[in-house]
Amino acid sequence: MQVTNFLQHKKISLLRRNNSRQRVLKKELSGALGRNEFHLVYQPQMDLKSGRVSGFEALLRWKRQNGEMVSPAEFVPITERNGLIIPIGHWVLEEVCRFSNALRDRGFSGIRTGVNISIRQMNEPRFFEDITELIERLGTDPSSLDLEITETMRVEEIEGLAQLTRRLKERGFSISIDDYGTGYSSLSYLYSLQFDRVKIDKFFVDRMLKENRSRHIINSIITLSRKLDIETVAEGVETLEQLYVLKDEQCTQIQGYHFSPPLSWKEALSFC
Ligand code: C2E
Ligand code: MG
Ligand code: MG
Repeated sequence: MQVTNFLQHKKISLLRRNNSRQRVLKKELSGALGRNEFHLVYQPQMDLKSGRVSGFEALLRWKRQNGEMVSPAEFVPITERNGLIIPIGHWVLEEVCRFSNALRDRGFSGIRTGVNISIRQMNEPRFFEDITELIERLGTDPSSLDLEITETMRVEEIEGLAQLTRRLKERGFSISIDDYGTGYSSLSYLYSLQFDRVKIDKFFVDRMLKENRSRHIINSIITLSRKLDIETVAEGVETLEQLYVLKDEQCTQIQGYHFSPPLSWKEALSFC
């Protein structure tokens, strides 16, 4: 067999294996919620001025029946394609409200909990009604929740979302833009959607000590955000050196393994 034929053959069989894994995961995901296979972990965020916990980010975990832990980076896109993200996202929100209530009951009402919201969820016509009904039923203060929206939405989708985020903010929710800098990075996001917080993607944090270009990009995101009165959270901070540079750049908060990995509910409450 010629080398090109061999490589093509290998590529096709890899694609087939990926496709069949996707099919298996898709099938299993449809019953995963009913089998209680999901749980959340909570990663602390540190306020760089006080050095204390300023918030948490709730991250979804899925343990398959065979015991395998599947990354949300792999299974969330499948649920976004087949619409399962709607019931799963609702379950996540309910769980996060309960976690936030537990923080409040222990006297930590100033600590916010971030929750990742997929654009597919936000595009649901009843998203606003559902989330407001939920916080009213559970007695959760909306300002204790931070809705994280990723930057991967198309610029054409901004107008519709601007109206929704305005209503959410009026109702008291706080809103963040996630993974900033790696998607479209359109300045119209910052203009139209009026975020409370920008989360700087780990991509730049990883490179900022080795490359001036990444550091300049971080510097400009922070400078612009400060002028617009938007807080900045650097993601994926793994070393003390990175922390010092981010503090120097006047980043407001950090999240990453240096401060803490994601924790269980119980561990998170005792971390405060
Ligand atoms: P994200 O929202 O940007 O979450 C941050 C990711 O970085 C998490 O991965 C977290 O565990 C990881 N991380 C945090 N600190 C460090 C660090 O210092 N080093 C390294 N190497 N990684 C770090 P995770 O939990 O695998 O989540 C991946 C993505 O899946 C999330 O990215 C988010 O986009 C999505 N996701 C997670 N939970 C949910 C959810 O409940 N709903 C939706 N729609 N998406 C979710
Ligand atoms: Mg996030
Ligand atoms: Mg992120």
